[in-house]
Amino acid sequence: MYNIVLFGPPGAGKGTQSEKLIQKYGLTHLSTGDLFRKHLGEGTELGLLAKKYMNEGHLVPDEVVIKMVEEKISETKDSQGFIFDGFPRTTAQAEALDKMLAKHELEISGMIALDVPQDILRERIKERGKTSNRADDQDDEKITTRIQVYMNETLPVASYYEKQGKFQKINGVGEISEIFNQITSVIDSY
Ligand code: ADP
Repeated sequence: MYNIVLFGPPGAGKGTQSEKLIQKYGLTHLSTGDLFRKHLGEGTELGLLAKKYMNEGHLVPDEVVIKMVEEKISETKDSQGFIFDGFPRTTAQAEALDKMLAKHELEISGMIALDVPQDILRERIKERGKTSNRADDQDDEKITTRIQVYMNETLPVASYYEKQGKFQKINGVGEISEIFNQITSVIDSY
């Protein structure tokens, strides 16, 4: 059973690699961005609340995100483990995640960070924006905000796992399959 945090800035390739990882290891993909977009699409109250933050590239408030993740973990039965993608994005979320996993007698196996330079991130997000239909992918200012939010609020989460000896960084630039191989060798070492 693995519980993995896939970490990295917007555009690092977390979603792409998560898809491949869930197939190989039979894990449950828990992407908070995808969950919010689902709510948005269905026009739920939660979706409406999240929309104004997401469209500007800001973080949705911690308590809202944490509640949504708690529900998803509780309703997921017979899982071989989780890939957390886009969560935790603040230290408060990381602390909350440890607590909720402990309730189910689970813990994080490790965090794997995808390292990608800023200029490549911007190119990838703009390219994705042509087809993703996401307001936050299509505007330079919003992309800048997201990268800044990542630097200021999300990067400290790496230290949180580093202190627990659970942090590994890999190069997120190159062939998708090559990056995938590097991720799987980290997971296989757990
Ligand atoms: P990306 O990593 O490409 O920016 P995501 O799909 O992970 O995209 O997230 C899109 C948006 O959803 C974020 O900019 C933010 O507004 C919101 N969001 C997703 N996950 C979280 C989270 N864990 N905490 C706060 N906000 C979140």
